[in-house]
Amino acid sequence: MQRLDQQFIDNHWVASRGERRLPVTNPYTEAVIAEVTAGHPADVDAAVAAARRALPTWRARSGAERAHYLDGFADALTRRREALMRLSSTNNGKVLAEAAIDLDDAIACYRYYADQARALDARQGRPVTLGMEGVEARCYHDPVGVVGLITPWNFPLVTSAWKLAPALAAGCTAVLKPSEVTPLPERALAEIALEIGLPAGVLNLLHGDGEGIGAPLAAHPSVDKVSFTGSNRVGEAVMHAAAERTAGVSLELGGKSPILVMDDADPERAADWVMAGLYFNAGQICSATSRLLVHEAVAEPLYAALAERIDALVLGDPLAEGTTMGPMTSARQREAVQGYLAIAEQEGLAAVRDARHRELPGQGFFLAPTLYRDVPVESRLWREEIFGPVLCGRSVDSEAQAIRLANDSDFGLAATVVSGTAERARRIGRQLQAGSVWINSEQLVLPETGWGGVKRSGIGRELGPWGLAAYLEVKHQIGAA
Ligand code: NAD
Repeated sequence: MQRLDQQFIDNHWVASRGERRLPVTNPYTEAVIAEVTAGHPADVDAAVAAARRALPTWRARSGAERAHYLDGFADALTRRREALMRLSSTNNGKVLAEAAIDLDDAIACYRYYADQARALDARQGRPVTLGMEGVEARCYHDPVGVVGLITPWNFPLVTSAWKLAPALAAGCTAVLKPSEVTPLPERALAEIALEIGLPAGVLNLLHGDGEGIGAPLAAHPSVDKVSFTGSNRVGEAVMHAAAERTAGVSLELGGKSPILVMDDADPERAADWVMAGLYFNAGQICSATSRLLVHEAVAEPLYAALAERIDALVLGDPLAEGTTMGPMTSARQREAVQGYLAIAEQEGLAAVRDARHRELPGQGFFLAPTLYRDVPVESRLWREEIFGPVLCGRSVDSEAQAIRLANDSDFGLAATVVSGTAERARRIGRQLQAGSVWINSEQLVLPETGWGGVKRSGIGRELGPWGLAAYLEVKHQIGAA
């Protein structure tokens, strides 16, 4: 069993000051495959100090020079693609085909921000058009400084890429804390940093949990900004900690996203998009379209098509060919979802499919893919993020009702609209409160388009030029022309 007692600070693996250790589990075999340090605030002090020392030289480099390292990350991840897919599957439980999508997403992200870093050079010092004669102003983009990057367990290597790539492109230095549940894949980033000769202190990687690393990092006086992806409970704590010193935050939090299937939709095609939006990654997706709003005209054929597809899901070893849904990532997450299933039982929700329709593999943190219909809007299952393979449906009798119910949520991360005409779907999409709306599509996430939500789904955007802007401060120089 691997013992991961070391932290990556200033380009060296050094012993953590933490005494506590946490088990790292393979969610399919349920075996403990490693033990990782829970970390210690002194580790944070050392990593932040290293990042602070590295900052002046790193920020002084041109965007083109920084791009060279980002391309280096993309190349090195490409070389390790197969091995990292397997590691990600083993640690997270996702099926190999999904791990492949993750790797490609991460690689594309480092490439994209290499280009953005190169383009940044040409953006520096651009004149601003002014209304006053005899005065000139120029606009520059400075890095925010030392940034703390905190990520969850559902998309290893992806959520970290969305933060680390733009942060390094901008000229920031970073302390990255991956989730203690899936600490294994991100270790490759430290290896790659050494392999490509990234200057010491530019990337520091700390293992640990919220107590050992997360909270001290969010509260550290020398961290200029914290970018956090995870739960609302922790995201709000991070925001409080940052507020104590007026530091910036980006928050990518929870969701309860709707999928709207209109009366002119083809139920068969709609069923494919509903499936992809919910049962991918065993439902552990922040943008899961977990509320289905289906027009009553197509409700019956849609539920029939969904039942067929749910029955066709193959639960099993995520590394085996043919498996289409793996286990939940942790026993803890499975328990959390089981809590919602118990509520559904008490409320007598109508199950189109649930545990009664499926025999689970004999090992692993599996849950049966579940679909409830006619779920009351007051139900906790309708209103709260479940983060598992549980879809809640309701019929609507009009477009207006679909839009009203879609927006009746504390969250606003994403949405999908399915209609026979893309133009109608786009018109509906404009009325939805969400950061991303997919139009007759699976959930495509592209490096060029922004990612993030409104309402309680978070603050700020990742990816695209907005993802870079999150790590830049605008500076103007103004004087006589
Ligand atoms: P979590 O909030 O429990 O943990 C996220 C990270 O925060 C982990 O690295 C954890 O160690 C750390 N942490 C824990 N306590 C902390 C503290 N007090 N201060 C600072 N850091 C602390 O979330 P999770 O269970 O890992 O992930 C699931 C959640 O993440 C879901 O709610 C999901 O919606 C959300 N999520 C959102 C997005 C998005 O883009 N919006 C993407 C993925 C996941």
